[in-house]
Amino acid sequence: MKKPFVTEEQLQKIVQEYPTPFHLYDEAGIRRHCRMINEAFSWNPGFREHFAVKATPNPSILRIMKEEGCGVDTASLTELMLAEKCGFKNEEIFFTSIDTPAEDFRKAYDLHAIINFDDPDAMNFFEKHVGKLPKTACLRYNPGGVFTLNKSHEGFQVMGQLEENKFGMTKDQIFACFQRLKEAGCENYGLHTFLASNTLSDDYYPALARIIFSLAVEVKETLGISVSFINLSGGIGVPYKPDERSNNVLAIGAGVKKAYEEILVPAGLGNVRLCTELGRWMTAESGCIVTKVVHLKDTYRHYAGVDANACNLMRPAMYGAYHHITVMGKEDQPCDHVYDVIGDLCENNDKLAIQRSLPELEPGDLLVIHDTGAHGFSMGYNYNGRLRSAELLLKEDGTVKMIRRPETPDDYFATLNF
Ligand SMILES: *Cc1c(COP(=O)(O)O)cnc(C)c1O
Repeated sequence: MKKPFVTEEQLQKIVQEYPTPFHLYDEAGIRRHCRMINEAFSWNPGFREHFAVKATPNPSILRIMKEEGCGVDTASLTELMLAEKCGFKNEEIFFTSIDTPAEDFRKAYDLHAIINFDDPDAMNFFEKHVGKLPKTACLRYNPGGVFTLNKSHEGFQVMGQLEENKFGMTKDQIFACFQRLKEAGCENYGLHTFLASNTLSDDYYPALARIIFSLAVEVKETLGISVSFINLSGGIGVPYKPDERSNNVLAIGAGVKKAYEEILVPAGLGNVRLCTELGRWMTAESGCIVTKVVHLKDTYRHYAGVDANACNLMRPAMYGAYHHITVMGKEDQPCDHVYDVIGDLCENNDKLAIQRSLPELEPGDLLVIHDTGAHGFSMGYNYNGRLRSAELLLKEDGTVKMIRRPETPDDYFATLNF
């Protein structure tokens, strides 16, 4: 069973000070995930997790990551600024972007971030607007075709149609870009690939590692270029549904080690430093939305109207994503009522849960919507003039700190000219 990381007693206290709805993050959980990923790759000297800022772009969260030895992965000017303000420097910052504005590239260059080029044109564009190519550069590979994974227990499963995926470049383009970088005097080369999102298999990273490690060997044999780092990207998922299994990141690290020893070491690439840029796995389970039931409505279905909506959590509306719900104080009651849990937006897809079996609800019930610590608040928007909520941090000592205040109507009007 999924259990919230706070007790009902704790939450009742928190809501007296901070009105619902809000996002709540668990410092202890975030630190635990940082330590687990670092342990899983401790066999690789220089390993670094670059937390994907887009998942939870809050400085208080990013500083926790920094204290645990993580870097960041950024994709835009403002994410770069956020990284800078949090004290991340140089190769602690990855810049992995697409369709990139010139000023973003200039900022990434000024911060000495590792630039991850998405295609040959991005390199030309960078050279034109920055004036030169960087001394350290990474290339993003898209192997094309259909990416399937042979899961140990479930057989082959299609994970993604890579030809439809807008990210990364072909193998020929990788070779041409490395050649260009070499001629321009590049000193440190890297490779990156991202093949699937939210995977629930310990076999995903090792399978991806084999693809990108083999490419590194081919690059060495063909061009005489030895990459010094390889970025395994994001994509390790979390069990949103109560019956799904968690990834075992120690097993994942061991699977990647095996691929490393079988492919890179014999090719003379035993010094390659690995990095990851996980977002979801790092924080999703260490965040939840706390919301209250405000209205109950019975028509053709039973509706529970809560004070959160798709502006707080877009994933159900966007992807039909499942987020588990716990009704605080009713954990032991039978889930014998079926509700659509809805928000107040004038859009019928503003449903945080559809046909969900829950205990009987009453106005005032506190609901915890699980696993919203990544791609939750950050996807928020202002449709219908609805305002973004607060973000709170449950600290390791049990106290709560507001790490982002809720928006007010003044924030909504701040960008308008009358
Ligand atoms: C979104 C993203 C990530 C993080 O992905 P998760 O699925 O959250 O782990 C990592 N790298 C890049 C380039 C991304 O766009």
